[in-house]
Amino acid sequence: MTTATPFAYRKALAAIPMPATARLTAAQLRGAGCVWCAAELHGDTAIDLEQRYNRIVGVPGRWFPRGCSPCSLRAVLAVCRTHPQTCEQCTDDPTLCEMRRALRALALELRR
Ligand SMILES: [Zn+2]
Ligand SMILES: [Zn+2]
Repeated sequence: MTTATPFAYRKALAAIPMPATARLTAAQLRGAGCVWCAAELHGDTAIDLEQRYNRIVGVPGRWFPRGCSPCSLRAVLAVCRTHPQTCEQCTDDPTLCEMRRALRALALELRR
């Protein structure tokens, strides 16, 4: 993925649910390991999953989860599947939904 993440992608990334922080290791919370599979991440393969606010060891705070591309792709596809059920725009006319478009574009990007 390019360094300047387009705004629509960032919104789509922010829509991906994260695992409960209580189950994650320090490396995962630091963004050094994939938030889903714990694989060690290296600069160009890591996907930034946007800033999150959660309780971490009881203290509310910001963290910056990252994922490996296969896990991130799986997570994006899962959101693609469930998104229309919770989106008014998609019930109305899915072709006009920006979030749906962004999720699909993101999935295509991650598949490369
Ligand atoms: Zn992973
Ligand atoms: Zn939608």
